[in-house]
Amino acid sequence: MRLALLGPPGSGKGTQAQRICEAFNLVHLASGDILRAEKNSASPLGLQVRDFIDNGLLVPDDLMVELMRQKIIGLKQGFVLDGFPRTLPQAQALNRMLFELDRPLMLVLNFVVNPRVLARRFEGRRVCPVCLSVYHIDSLPPARPGICDNDGAALIIREDDKPEVVQKRIATYQETMAPLIAYFAQLGNFKTVDTSAEIDEVTKLVLDKIRRHFEDE
Ligand code: AMP
Repeated sequence: MRLALLGPPGSGKGTQAQRICEAFNLVHLASGDILRAEKNSASPLGLQVRDFIDNGLLVPDDLMVELMRQKIIGLKQGFVLDGFPRTLPQAQALNRMLFELDRPLMLVLNFVVNPRVLARRFEGRRVCPVCLSVYHIDSLPPARPGICDNDGAALIIREDDKPEVVQKRIATYQETMAPLIAYFAQLGNFKTVDTSAEIDEVTKLVLDKIRRHFEDE
Protein backbone atom coordinates (compact mmCIF):
# COMPACT_ATOMS: atom_id res chain seq x y z
CA MET A 1 0.00 0.00 0.00
CA ARG A 2 1.40 3.42 -0.97
CA LEU A 3 -0.45 6.47 0.31
CA ALA A 4 0.03 10.22 0.55
CA LEU A 5 -1.73 12.49 3.05
CA LEU A 6 -2.51 16.13 2.22
CA GLY A 7 -3.77 18.63 4.78
CA PRO A 8 -2.86 21.88 6.53
CA PRO A 9 -0.41 21.91 9.44
CA GLY A 10 -2.34 20.67 12.49
CA SER A 11 -4.86 18.61 10.53
CA GLY A 12 -3.61 15.43 12.21
CA LYS A 13 -1.54 14.01 9.36
CA GLY A 14 1.33 12.95 11.63
CA THR A 15 -0.81 11.20 14.24
CA GLN A 16 -3.06 9.50 11.71
CA ALA A 17 -0.10 8.49 9.53
CA GLN A 18 1.40 6.62 12.52
CA ARG A 19 -1.88 4.82 13.09
CA ILE A 20 -2.29 3.96 9.41
CA CYS A 21 1.25 2.54 9.46
CA GLU A 22 0.47 0.38 12.51
CA ALA A 23 -2.80 -0.87 10.98
CA PHE A 24 -1.32 -1.80 7.60
CA ASN A 25 2.37 -2.32 8.46
CA LEU A 26 3.69 0.60 6.44
CA VAL A 27 6.62 3.00 6.81
CA HIS A 28 5.85 6.58 7.86
CA LEU A 29 7.76 9.15 5.78
CA ALA A 30 7.12 12.55 7.39
CA SER A 31 8.97 15.27 5.47
CA GLY A 32 9.00 17.65 8.47
CA ASP A 33 10.55 14.99 10.76
CA ILE A 34 13.06 14.00 8.09
CA LEU A 35 14.07 17.66 7.67
CA ARG A 36 14.30 18.32 11.42
CA ALA A 37 16.48 15.21 11.88
CA GLU A 38 18.71 16.50 9.07
CA LYS A 39 18.83 19.95 10.68
CA ASN A 40 19.70 18.53 14.12
CA SER A 41 22.48 16.40 12.66
CA ALA A 42 24.05 19.65 11.29
CA SER A 43 24.85 17.82 8.02
CA PRO A 44 25.58 20.02 4.96
CA LEU A 45 21.98 19.48 3.85
CA GLY A 46 20.81 20.25 7.39
CA LEU A 47 22.56 23.60 7.31
CA GLN A 48 20.98 24.37 3.94
CA VAL A 49 17.44 23.66 5.18
CA ARG A 50 17.68 25.16 8.69
CA ASP A 51 16.63 28.74 7.95
CA PHE A 52 13.67 27.67 5.82
CA ILE A 53 12.30 25.42 8.56
CA ASP A 54 12.78 27.90 11.41
CA ASN A 55 11.02 30.63 9.44
CA GLY A 56 8.09 28.49 8.29
CA LEU A 57 9.14 28.72 4.64
CA LEU A 58 9.06 25.82 2.21
CA VAL A 59 12.37 24.12 1.51
CA PRO A 60 13.21 24.45 -2.25
CA ASP A 61 11.61 21.74 -4.39
CA ASP A 62 14.83 20.25 -5.80
CA LEU A 63 16.34 19.72 -2.33
CA MET A 64 13.10 18.29 -1.01
CA VAL A 65 12.52 15.90 -3.90
CA GLU A 66 16.09 14.58 -3.69
CA LEU A 67 15.79 14.00 0.05
CA MET A 68 12.52 12.06 -0.34
CA ARG A 69 13.88 10.10 -3.30
CA GLN A 70 16.73 8.86 -1.09
CA LYS A 71 14.21 7.74 1.56
CA ILE A 72 11.82 6.00 -0.85
CA ILE A 73 14.28 4.26 -3.13
CA GLY A 74 15.56 1.73 -0.57
CA LEU A 75 12.14 0.81 0.82
CA LYS A 76 10.82 -2.72 0.36
CA GLN A 77 7.61 -2.01 2.29
CA GLY A 78 4.64 0.21 1.47
CA PHE A 79 4.64 3.74 2.88
CA VAL A 80 2.61 6.74 3.95
CA LEU A 81 3.85 10.15 2.81
CA ASP A 82 3.06 12.91 5.28
CA GLY A 83 3.92 16.53 4.43
CA PHE A 84 5.25 15.65 1.00
CA PRO A 85 4.40 16.58 -1.71
CA ARG A 86 3.60 20.16 -0.75
CA THR A 87 3.83 21.91 -4.16
CA LEU A 88 2.76 21.03 -7.69
CA PRO A 89 6.36 20.50 -8.92
CA GLN A 90 6.99 18.15 -5.95
CA ALA A 91 3.82 16.20 -6.82
CA GLN A 92 4.81 15.90 -10.47
CA ALA A 93 8.37 14.87 -9.57
CA LEU A 94 7.03 12.31 -7.07
CA ASN A 95 4.67 10.76 -9.61
CA ARG A 96 7.48 10.55 -12.19
CA MET A 97 9.82 8.94 -9.65
CA LEU A 98 7.24 6.39 -8.47
CA PHE A 99 6.24 5.58 -12.05
CA GLU A 100 9.90 4.87 -12.88
CA LEU A 101 10.16 2.62 -9.81
CA ASP A 102 6.92 0.89 -10.89
CA ARG A 103 5.42 1.74 -7.48
CA PRO A 104 2.76 4.41 -8.15
CA LEU A 105 0.70 6.03 -5.38
CA MET A 106 -2.48 4.06 -4.70
CA LEU A 107 -4.44 6.65 -2.71
CA VAL A 108 -4.18 10.33 -1.82
CA LEU A 109 -6.15 11.34 1.29
CA ASN A 110 -6.94 15.04 1.63
CA PHE A 111 -7.49 16.10 5.29
CA VAL A 112 -9.78 19.11 5.84
CA VAL A 113 -10.39 20.68 9.26
CA ASN A 114 -12.51 23.38 10.88
CA PRO A 115 -10.33 26.56 11.34
CA ARG A 116 -11.32 27.03 15.05
CA VAL A 117 -10.33 23.44 15.82
CA LEU A 118 -7.04 24.01 14.02
CA ALA A 119 -6.04 27.00 16.18
CA ARG A 120 -6.57 25.02 19.43
CA ARG A 121 -4.47 22.14 18.15
CA PHE A 122 -1.42 24.36 17.74
CA GLU A 123 -1.69 25.98 21.15
CA GLY A 124 -1.35 22.65 22.91
CA ARG A 125 1.14 20.76 20.75
CA ARG A 126 4.38 19.58 22.42
CA VAL A 127 7.19 17.51 20.94
CA CYS A 128 10.08 15.45 22.27
CA PRO A 129 13.38 16.92 21.02
CA VAL A 130 15.02 13.48 21.28
CA CYS A 131 12.63 10.93 19.69
CA LEU A 132 10.35 13.49 17.94
CA SER A 133 7.13 12.01 19.45
CA VAL A 134 4.23 14.45 19.32
CA TYR A 135 1.84 15.10 22.24
CA HIS A 136 -1.06 17.46 22.92
CA ILE A 137 -1.87 18.83 26.36
CA ASP A 138 -5.63 18.14 25.88
CA SER A 139 -5.99 15.22 23.52
CA LEU A 140 -2.73 13.25 23.75
CA PRO A 141 -1.00 14.15 27.02
CA PRO A 142 2.15 12.37 28.20
CA ALA A 143 1.84 10.33 31.43
CA ARG A 144 3.83 12.99 33.33
CA PRO A 145 3.19 16.62 32.25
CA GLY A 146 5.99 18.00 30.09
CA ILE A 147 7.97 14.72 29.99
CA CYS A 148 8.29 12.31 27.05
CA ASP A 149 6.86 8.83 27.75
CA ASN A 150 9.54 7.14 25.63
CA ASP A 151 12.78 8.66 26.90
CA GLY A 152 12.01 11.06 29.77
CA ALA A 153 13.21 14.15 27.85
CA ALA A 154 11.59 17.53 28.59
CA LEU A 155 8.98 18.30 25.93
CA ILE A 156 9.26 21.54 23.94
CA ILE A 157 7.12 23.76 21.74
CA ARG A 158 8.50 23.49 18.24
CA GLU A 159 10.06 26.70 16.89
CA ASP A 160 7.58 26.61 14.00
CA ASP A 161 4.54 26.06 16.30
CA LYS A 162 4.95 29.59 17.65
CA PRO A 163 1.85 31.65 16.68
CA GLU A 164 3.47 34.03 14.17
CA VAL A 165 5.19 31.13 12.36
CA VAL A 166 1.98 29.07 12.40
CA GLN A 167 0.06 31.85 10.64
CA LYS A 168 2.73 31.94 7.96
CA ARG A 169 2.69 28.16 7.55
CA ILE A 170 -1.09 28.08 7.11
CA ALA A 171 -0.97 30.96 4.59
CA THR A 172 1.83 29.23 2.65
CA TYR A 173 -0.17 26.01 2.74
CA GLN A 174 -3.31 27.60 1.32
CA GLU A 175 -1.42 29.37 -1.46
CA THR A 176 0.43 26.30 -2.64
CA MET A 177 -2.14 23.59 -2.02
CA ALA A 178 -5.02 24.49 -4.34
CA PRO A 179 -3.23 23.46 -7.58
CA LEU A 180 -1.87 20.35 -5.88
CA ILE A 181 -5.34 19.23 -4.79
CA ALA A 182 -6.71 19.89 -8.29
CA TYR A 183 -3.85 17.87 -9.79
CA PHE A 184 -4.43 14.80 -7.59
CA ALA A 185 -8.23 15.05 -7.88
CA GLN A 186 -8.07 14.82 -11.68
CA LEU A 187 -5.68 11.85 -11.52
CA GLY A 188 -8.20 9.85 -9.42
CA ASN A 189 -7.50 7.67 -6.34
CA PHE A 190 -8.19 10.82 -4.33
CA LYS A 191 -10.47 11.08 -1.26
CA THR A 192 -11.26 13.86 1.23
CA VAL A 193 -11.69 13.23 5.00
CA ASP A 194 -12.90 15.74 7.61
CA THR A 195 -10.42 15.45 10.49
CA SER A 196 -12.01 17.99 12.89
CA ALA A 197 -13.24 15.32 15.35
CA GLU A 198 -11.30 13.74 18.24
CA ILE A 199 -8.25 11.67 17.33
CA ASP A 200 -9.74 8.16 17.81
CA GLU A 201 -12.86 9.04 15.89
CA VAL A 202 -10.78 10.45 13.03
CA THR A 203 -8.70 7.24 13.01
CA LYS A 204 -11.88 5.21 12.51
CA LEU A 205 -12.98 7.44 9.63
CA VAL A 206 -9.56 7.34 8.00
CA LEU A 207 -9.01 3.57 8.30
CA ASP A 208 -12.52 2.99 7.06
CA LYS A 209 -11.93 5.18 3.98
CA ILE A 210 -8.72 3.34 3.21
CA ARG A 211 -10.26 -0.14 3.61
CA ARG A 212 -13.24 0.79 1.47
CA HIS A 213 -10.99 2.26 -1.21
CA PHE A 214 -9.00 -0.97 -1.49
CA GLU A 215 -12.12 -3.17 -1.36
CA ASP A 216 -13.61 -1.21 -4.28
CA GLU A 217 -10.44 -1.63 -6.37
P1 AMP B 1 5.83 19.99 9.04
O1 AMP B 1 6.38 19.30 10.24
O2 AMP B 1 5.33 19.05 7.99
O3 AMP B 1 4.85 21.06 9.34
O4 AMP B 1 7.09 20.73 8.35
C1 AMP B 1 7.89 21.66 9.04
C2 AMP B 1 8.66 22.53 8.06
O5 AMP B 1 9.50 21.71 7.22
C3 AMP B 1 7.81 23.32 7.09
O6 AMP B 1 7.34 24.52 7.64
C4 AMP B 1 8.78 23.54 5.95
O7 AMP B 1 9.73 24.54 6.29
C5 AMP B 1 9.52 22.22 5.88
N1 AMP B 1 8.88 21.22 4.99
C6 AMP B 1 8.24 20.08 5.36
N2 AMP B 1 7.81 19.40 4.28
C7 AMP B 1 8.16 20.13 3.20
C8 AMP B 1 7.96 19.96 1.80
N3 AMP B 1 7.31 18.92 1.29
N4 AMP B 1 8.46 20.93 0.98
C9 AMP B 1 9.12 21.98 1.47
N5 AMP B 1 9.32 22.21 2.77
C10 AMP B 1 8.85 21.29 3.65
